[in-house]
Amino acid sequence: MSPSVRRAAVAADPGAAPVTALAGVGPSLAQSLHRLGLACVQDLWFHLPLRYEDRTRITPIRDLRVGESAQVEGVVEAVERGFRFRPQLRVAIGDDSQATLALRFFHFNRSQAEQFVPGARFVCYGEIRHGMHGPEIVHPAYRRVPDGASALLEDRLTPIYPTTEGLGQKRLAGVVERALDRLPPQEALELIPDDLREPLHLASLREALLTVHRPAPDADVRALALGQHPAQQRLAFEELLTHHLGLKRLRAQVRRHRAASLSGDGRLRSALLAQLPFALTAAQQRVVREVEHDLAQSKPMLRLVQGDVGSGKTVVAALAALAAVEAGFQAALVAPTELLAEQHWRNFLKWMQPLGIEPTWLSGKVQGRAREAARAAVAAGAPVVIGTHALIQDGVSFRRLGLAIIDEQHRFGVHQRLTLSEKGRDGDAVPHQLVLTATPIPRTLAMTAYADLDVSVIDELPPGRTPIQTVAISNARRAEVIERIRAACSEGRQAYWVCTLIEESEQLEAQAAEVAFAELTAALQELRIGLVHGRLKPKEKQATMAAFAAGELSVLVATTVIEVGVDVPNASLMVVENAERLGLAQLHQLRGRVGRGSTASSCVLLYQTPLSQMARARLEVMRETSDGFRIAEKDLELRGPGEMLGTRQTGQLQFRVADLARDAHLLPAVQRVGEAMLRDHPQSAQKLMARWIGGSERFAGA
Ligand code: ADP
Ligand code: MG
Repeated sequence: MSPSVRRAAVAADPGAAPVTALAGVGPSLAQSLHRLGLACVQDLWFHLPLRYEDRTRITPIRDLRVGESAQVEGVVEAVERGFRFRPQLRVAIGDDSQATLALRFFHFNRSQAEQFVPGARFVCYGEIRHGMHGPEIVHPAYRRVPDGASALLEDRLTPIYPTTEGLGQKRLAGVVERALDRLPPQEALELIPDDLREPLHLASLREALLTVHRPAPDADVRALALGQHPAQQRLAFEELLTHHLGLKRLRAQVRRHRAASLSGDGRLRSALLAQLPFALTAAQQRVVREVEHDLAQSKPMLRLVQGDVGSGKTVVAALAALAAVEAGFQAALVAPTELLAEQHWRNFLKWMQPLGIEPTWLSGKVQGRAREAARAAVAAGAPVVIGTHALIQDGVSFRRLGLAIIDEQHRFGVHQRLTLSEKGRDGDAVPHQLVLTATPIPRTLAMTAYADLDVSVIDELPPGRTPIQTVAISNARRAEVIERIRAACSEGRQAYWVCTLIEESEQLEAQAAEVAFAELTAALQELRIGLVHGRLKPKEKQATMAAFAAGELSVLVATTVIEVGVDVPNASLMVVENAERLGLAQLHQLRGRVGRGSTASSCVLLYQTPLSQMARARLEVMRETSDGFRIAEKDLELRGPGEMLGTRQTGQLQFRVADLARDAHLLPAVQRVGEAMLRDHPQSAQKLMARWIGGSERFAGA
């Protein structure tokens, strides 16, 4: 943009001015702001507070409640410096309520310590904790009140913003303040067309922004803390709308391309069906038809197949792959873990070799010459390729990729999906995409999380499954559980013993599994027991898994590496250690490893006492139902959707104000308004996306 054009643009839209246009923002502050994705004035308007601190009032020490944050005013009564384990400063302050609060510091310098002299008056703010001798605050924010003066209180809630190293709250809040001074009138700011907005009775955008950044002294503090204030709801609506538009746009971009129409003669598919030891369920047949219909089009398929654990998604994927092969194209299947990819590979070998197709195995751990050979085969047109995301990394190219299948999508995320699709790009043509997920998501959520995909649901389990009986047992009764394993295995059944840890450390989890392995080996000397965890060599893991699948091992001690996809029909007992630490979705996945054969299966959830209320509620849900969708809805109720969708891994659904569990009621309107905007107001839709996507991303994408 030339300077004069830029000036004209800024005059029309004050939000477009760079942050450096604000008083006091020099290059170094601008740099910190850029790190937060804040490039122009408008980005600051939409940099929303994470939470608020209430410094408008003083709470008497006697009324403090543990877990809450509060502001206290008091006089220093005693100061104690200790070095018991590490340097420590402990200051006792008292107030008119005749109670004492301890302030504790582990990091402090001399001048800080010297400010606290008995008799001096301070105002402090922080979270109240249970101390040794009553309430305490660790590292409070504090201010000395000069003698004879009284404490100055804020007249409104203090917003706390997401920030970055080296940029303090005060400074950031000051910049946001100055940006807000340039906020244009409502008409100029609003992007959601009136006719769509008015029936929804949403707050005006200008009011909403001013309220969340500068809550009035009489603002509804409780509503603000819960994110339920009309101002926050208005912004949540807009954010969800933007997210929806973004996914729809992504979809439109992919769908603008051509794709090869994959409609073979059905020869390979019939041969596979003829050789399967079972008939497809009605649900599988329906989903296969939907997939085949999409594949025959000359537009890229974007379809998600959702099906509970054990619903039989793999064979649906295999049939889709064969449709591609029949049409003379390659199909690739990508799974999130080595173990799962390998399992698919074994299934595909079993099913496809008799048809004269040799699936190619390519994972991160295939190295050296084997890797080169595999890559060469892929480049030369190997029909079916299976692997982990090493597949989608550089250096692997396909000759003619017609279909990309991605298993357990929640582990990947939109971007990886696009990379794989990019791999198969041939001029204007892109591969069809089939995504499989075992995460059952309530419908409203699915429409938001997967707005870029069409959804097919396998809502029926294969016949002959016996229900799994689930019990929750305290770890104190561990010995009984071990006896239960002995009894089951003496009847020829097999058992899993899964060790879980809350820390996401492969090493600690592996150690826990080693310990359990030693314990079980000592207690069950007549049984053969195997061990798999993430730190073993792939060969060892493979051998152990194969031995367990072949029935040579009675018990498999494992970490959560077995969470997804492992399929051993004779295994009918599942013990999960520290079950109270896992989320419902994960427990459901684990439990889905049993109940695959015809013997009655059971699942023992071992827990450590004391149980939190949340943990108790979760275990109760597991005992009550084995319906993945019901469990998903409960999970959503209990914990919110972030963890459930596995977004920790993908960062896909991180919202600034919106919270899918809290704001799910907005979603139907979001979808309605989204469709209407794309159809009738594409330019406003475009601007809305630019507004909510931070500056840094905008530049990266440019
Ligand atoms: P998931 O949907 O969890 O990936 P799988 O595809 O691994 O489930 O299938 C689970 C088990 O059910 C496998 O052993 C598979 O061979 C078997 N299976 C799949 N479809 C049917 C069916 N229609 N009838 C009987 N068994 C089936
Ligand atoms: Mg599977």
